[in-house]
Amino acid sequence: MKHLSTAIRVPIEPDDPAIVRDEELCIQCGQCARICGERQSVAGHFSLEKNGDVGICIHCGQCINYCPVNSLHERRDVPKVKAAMNTPGKTVFVQTSPSTRVGIGEACGLPVGSFSEGKLVAALKKLGFKYVFDTTFAADLTIMEEAAELAARLADPKNAVLPMFTSCCPAWVKFVELFYPQRLGNLSTSRSPLLMSGPTLKAFYAGKFGIAPASVFNVAVTPCTAKKFEITRSEFNAAGRKIGDPSIRDFDAIITVRELASWLKEDGIDFASLPDTPYDRLLGSGAGVLFANTGGVMEAALRTAHFLLTGKEAPTEFLNLKPVRGMDDIREAVVEIAGRAIRVCAAHTTANARMLLADFESTAEKYDFIEIMSCKGGCIGGGGQPKCDNMKRDKIIAARMAAIYERDAALPVRCSHNNPEIQELYREFYGRPLSETAEELLHTAYTSRADTLNRK
Ligand code: SF4
Ligand code: SF4
Ligand code: SF4
Repeated sequence: MKHLSTAIRVPIEPDDPAIVRDEELCIQCGQCARICGERQSVAGHFSLEKNGDVGICIHCGQCINYCPVNSLHERRDVPKVKAAMNTPGKTVFVQTSPSTRVGIGEACGLPVGSFSEGKLVAALKKLGFKYVFDTTFAADLTIMEEAAELAARLADPKNAVLPMFTSCCPAWVKFVELFYPQRLGNLSTSRSPLLMSGPTLKAFYAGKFGIAPASVFNVAVTPCTAKKFEITRSEFNAAGRKIGDPSIRDFDAIITVRELASWLKEDGIDFASLPDTPYDRLLGSGAGVLFANTGGVMEAALRTAHFLLTGKEAPTEFLNLKPVRGMDDIREAVVEIAGRAIRVCAAHTTANARMLLADFESTAEKYDFIEIMSCKGGCIGGGGQPKCDNMKRDKIIAARMAAIYERDAALPVRCSHNNPEIQELYREFYGRPLSETAEELLHTAYTSRADTLNRK
């Protein structure tokens, strides 16, 4: 057996695309196994004896956050990004996920909860990125497709698979593929924001900017280690398939908030003193920003689902949907749209997800739409965010979340369907949500991985 028992530590495969263990540093303390088992519900739910000694992992990176000696860390992609930036003829697009605008300040020594979007853009420009975009724009795109899909499923309850599950968290998607493949039909087919923006940048915006799609190298700064796995999924070459070169990947590299902070430090960039700088374009709404927080995708989707189902803007309660906010394990709400009561729930951690899935009959009776994020707090507590004192962790996550809600409240556009650049994208390229081109580039399918649990 190459791995130690999962009672001692998590088994990480040498070619894991997201997580690496430095053997020399490991003190076999068991912290990673504890968090992976208790909170992520992965360790303890497979047997190395039965599956041919293969580590099972959803790449959430929570074990990294709890490893006391930094033996566990993300697979570092900064060298790959630097190489692309130095390759003649390559155009590197970088974008930043919703929660990074709070995480990066903390990682660079600012107080917890500092909103640092302008400095983040300035820092990336200083490192040499010419095009800096905002993934909240792509989060709006995800909402357009996901809300349209929800509206379509709700309109046909006899034939549609309900409750619908969100699918923007790649660790959660892999969790379903591994442990509950019979529920794959419940997952929204809408891709995550990054995997919507990747093909859209290569198949549409590159041409608009006068750049050859094959020369584009897409990079994202994320709070998430699972994104490193997600971009390697074989199906994510939609732009390449559309333009006739399937070797072109939708996305090329992911760097975590921690990796970016180290890069800035190495280059001697003083983050705190940087001037606030705006993104180049492709801006997001308040709804897009909410993707950072557990419950945020649900809140954002309901704002647009209301508009799609009634033709009217959502009432003000949808702009501060308190029942799905906060840190409770499972939060529920009932909202009325077009005379129908829609029953929703938001949960964080895959241990809570397992509870919902294990008693699926009762879950299906209670809810129409369920949001799951693998990390506690959602992406704001992701496996690529700055490490913190675990005794203070919940308070720190709450402070980061508050900065995100403040930002949503302060933005002039708070619903994805009202984002003028999203409207322009549909006018010029996609036509409408769930159109043929949208299905081709913005949706996906899932595959059972249950056989990896039992290889012998
Ligand atoms: S938490 Fe870190 S040090 Fe402890 S067993 Fe896991 S990898 Fe080793
Ligand atoms: S990344 Fe997540 S699933 Fe994988 S070993 Fe770590 S805690 Fe477990
Ligand atoms: S909750 Fe967010 S950060 Fe955590 S695995 Fe899912 S997408 Fe990544």
